[in-house]
Amino acid sequence: MKTDTAVELDPRVQSFLESGIQKLFIGGEFVESISGKTFDSLNPATGEVLAHVYEADQPDVERAVQAAERALAGPWSKLTASERGRLLWKLADLMEEHAEALAQLDTLDNGKPIRETRSADVPLAIDHFRYYAGWATKIHGEVIENSVSNHMFTYTRREPVGVVGQIIPWNFPLLMAAWKLGAALATGNAVVMKTAEQTPLTALYLARLIREAGFPDGVVNILSGFGPTAGAAIVKHPRIRKVAFTGSTEVGKTIMREAADNLKRVSLELGGKSPNIIFPDADFSKAIPGALMGIFFNQGQVCCAGSRLFVHKKVYDNFLSDMSSFAAKIKQGPGLDESTEIGPLVSEEQFNRVSYYLEKGKEEGAVPLTGGEPLSGPGYFVPPTIFTNVRDGMTISKEEIFGPVVAALPFDDEEQIADVIRRANDSEYGLAAGVWTSDVRKAHRVAHALEVGTVWVNCYNAFDAAVPFGGYKQSGFGREMGSYALELYTQVKAVWMNLD
Ligand code: ADP
Repeated sequence: MKTDTAVELDPRVQSFLESGIQKLFIGGEFVESISGKTFDSLNPATGEVLAHVYEADQPDVERAVQAAERALAGPWSKLTASERGRLLWKLADLMEEHAEALAQLDTLDNGKPIRETRSADVPLAIDHFRYYAGWATKIHGEVIENSVSNHMFTYTRREPVGVVGQIIPWNFPLLMAAWKLGAALATGNAVVMKTAEQTPLTALYLARLIREAGFPDGVVNILSGFGPTAGAAIVKHPRIRKVAFTGSTEVGKTIMREAADNLKRVSLELGGKSPNIIFPDADFSKAIPGALMGIFFNQGQVCCAGSRLFVHKKVYDNFLSDMSSFAAKIKQGPGLDESTEIGPLVSEEQFNRVSYYLEKGKEEGAVPLTGGEPLSGPGYFVPPTIFTNVRDGMTISKEEIFGPVVAALPFDDEEQIADVIRRANDSEYGLAAGVWTSDVRKAHRVAHALEVGTVWVNCYNAFDAAVPFGGYKQSGFGREMGSYALELYTQVKAVWMNLD
């Protein structure tokens, strides 16, 4: 249905989609998969086929590794740090020129609203490359005074790990590619990346820009394909020295087990069940939109979504009633409509998974204040849902739903915050948390006590390339972004030099 607010398709997206079966990006070329197998990428707003894509498997991973090794042995390692930085900056410039096309393609493939891809995914991805462009020239070792001899000179170098594997999810297709590539390239590694099978397109568009920016062939290889085949082949490949993974905790565990065979370095950014805590002294004009955005941003398909909403008993009823009347008004529709505030879920599988949790919640006695029923198709739409009458032990307050579903939980100990902290920390996950209060001391006390990698005080889902992000407990380990990500992609060499 054509509406006034429907976005005109960018001609570059049109020609990308009409360019035939999307190929793998290996060694600077777009190539068919060795098996010739393909799969479909669907438009989640309609369930229709958006593109046919070549499917990578183990032999394609091998080919990509060889291309990456050639790049490392040749042109890539010959570039200076400043030249690497300039390439990253150039890529960011090209992305800016193609910003609208990238935004539309991300929206088409993932379903997320165009207003979000335009204002968040694409600018954050561009910023990310600029940030790491700056780091390329600031990676250094140190000279160390040793006590062996005054004529023994010792220093360290920070060297790239080599060929690194990166496996990314579908919830922020472009941004996750950027998060993974920025630090790896700034530090001089070569990359074999596997995108999520649900959303292969934006990274392939990015591959064209990577080529145009002038990165040597094979520095970045992008494979579309499935987890147990192409993904597992990356994890098992003996000459891929590191794997960085973002996705479910369950797959993260498999990856860690499989990487043990060749002692690959592993960094994992996994699931969450993040608490968002509303104290009665919070500014509700900010806390209500913050709690809504905390759970409904990106259809709730966010690893750090504020999916356990702890609201003080004193304000619980008012807060929840205001929040649900706002939630009921959130405009749901196809992502490519400019008025859409919440889009469809990414896939039928995800739709079924979230629908299961809606049923499970009701079965266990939770009551939806708004939403609660998946919509009938076409497209994979689930309305914003707020559950009340929830207890801590229920399935919906323990398991990651990865959809627009929040479990609201009252708490009643304003002076003694220990109880709500205990409940907030009572989770195998530890990715993020939110705290809403006007009391600075309380804010810091709570922030320090929460067992999570990120705490947002009087805000939620704030991200910046300079600020590290990653998990405690079963939400993973390793920090992306900021200077911290450089640790993931460098190894330290000590050099002893006898001057006698
Ligand atoms: P989700 O369940 O939300 O799709 P996953 O953790 O399954 O999240 O997927 C995240 C990424 O991990 C995707 O790129 C997927 O293809 C990949 N993946 C899934 N299973 C494996 C596996 N066994 N080995 C390597 N990668 C995998």
